[in-house]
Amino acid sequence: MASESAAPDPVRVLVVGADAAGMSAAHQMLRTARRTGRRLAVTVLEAGEDTSYSACGIPYVASGEVDSTDELVARTADEHRAAGLDLRFGARVTHIDLDRRLAEVAGAEAVAFDEVVVATGARPVMPPWTSVDGVPVDGVHAAKTLRDADTWARRLATGGPVVVVGGGYIGVEMAEAAVRRGLDVTLVTRSRVLSSFAPEISAVVVAGLRKAGVEVVEHATVEGVEASDGVVRALRLADRTLPADHVVVALGVTPATDLLAHTGLLSPSGALRPDERGQVVPGVWAAGDCCEVRSRDGFWTYAPLGTHANKAGRVVGENVAGGDLRFPGMVGSAITRFAPGPVHLEIARTGILDVQVTDPSVDPVVVVTEGTTASGFMPEAAPIMIRVSADRTTRRLLSVEIVGGPGAGKRIDTAAAVLWYGGTVDDLAWMDLSYAPPVATAWEVLQIAARRVAERIDRDAQR
Ligand SMILES: Cc1cc2nc3c(=O)[nH]c(=O)nc-3n(C[C@H](O)[C@H](O)[C@H](O)COP(=O)(O)OP(=O)(O)OC[C@H]3O[C@@H](n4cnc5c(N)ncnc54)[C@H](O)[C@@H]3O)c2cc1C
Repeated sequence: MASESAAPDPVRVLVVGADAAGMSAAHQMLRTARRTGRRLAVTVLEAGEDTSYSACGIPYVASGEVDSTDELVARTADEHRAAGLDLRFGARVTHIDLDRRLAEVAGAEAVAFDEVVVATGARPVMPPWTSVDGVPVDGVHAAKTLRDADTWARRLATGGPVVVVGGGYIGVEMAEAAVRRGLDVTLVTRSRVLSSFAPEISAVVVAGLRKAGVEVVEHATVEGVEASDGVVRALRLADRTLPADHVVVALGVTPATDLLAHTGLLSPSGALRPDERGQVVPGVWAAGDCCEVRSRDGFWTYAPLGTHANKAGRVVGENVAGGDLRFPGMVGSAITRFAPGPVHLEIARTGILDVQVTDPSVDPVVVVTEGTTASGFMPEAAPIMIRVSADRTTRRLLSVEIVGGPGAGKRIDTAAAVLWYGGTVDDLAWMDLSYAPPVATAWEVLQIAARRVAERIDRDAQR
């Protein structure tokens, strides 16, 4: 008689955080488990009430270009549950006990797990001046969640002066939203606008902001807000006061990793550093904005971007379910747009930042080239500026930054591909790229920019 053996209990997987990284991981583990035959019981705990939404779309809801936050939702809670996930909202995990394999949940029973995926993302930086006596000032808000998107869509439709605090990508995108709503906009930043870019690129963006009517105040410090009845009326800088019915706080984010603060697993930035399979320590996986990202050169950077969160989540999901997928690293690509009407700027970068060049054997040669996005005789032709940096000795491409009109920005992907494969400035200058007058020049401007760096290196060598 054949002996009956009971099926093993399913592996209890707990995913904390139900947005890009968490839900990419959760769905990938279900897909992979079907292939590997691994039995999983997947619980997803989400502190908020939203899941699988594009935070990247928030500025476009705020501007009115996208009608509703519903359009930002890629998959609804019902769709997740129908796929087999036990998704619970309003479930904030306060502490993860790694020894007892137990997650404590605010106001609810602790959840036991065999494997945990930390996908808690990041929190917006909210300085003390955003609250009075611990109560957030009405009208002073971040742009981080779907609720924030609704708030900004509603507020910007009511009119009144807007101050955007923060000159990063989100600050620039929210300034565009407010200009599109026809409002008076001031953008205040403590350093330069888009300070991760070279000054000459930032200067083009500042000129574009000003042309669109945005008052730009750089190198400024916010001292506080003025409010009446808890509602913001103005923002105080060191030397002036800006009237404000709305203050957008876009000062970056910080990893939401309090639940692991006791573990000694956090890097100095407060983020996790998972290995290339997405594992932090055995049974503890992590992906998304709660993590740093390793560059292909081996540097850890805090780069909270959706593009990494989705990929890293998929890697974790595959591996939790018995597959073997590796996150191959990043090269530092990013893009944004400021296009509120008559002004249209696309701004993009890839490669290491100048400040990250710490290896004394690397000698960056930098050339800034100006050209057009299409043949000069075509109506589509718009100005474009490209800054290319390459190492003098190895000729390896180090970074490329682009600012320009329609079609300028996604040119960065060509440079990113060269960086990805460790290519040189000559590879970029001579690779086979497409050409037709409405979309490029016969000598593609990105290739001219690379060629000029190659020529500079050759010329300097002959001196
Ligand atoms: C306005 C804006 C524009 C952006 N534009 C771009 C862009 O153009 N390109 C790009 O690549 N990226 C962009 N990003 C970044 C991108 O949205 C994030 O990188 C991405 O959302 C990160 O996904 P995540 O799942 O790691 O984290 P999050 O989206 O932050 O999700 C984490 C989830 O975990 C939950 N959570 C946190 N702590 C707990 C806890 N203790 N218990 C339970 N649940 C918890 C949170 O409620 C949240 O739902 C933008 C972000 C913003 C805000």
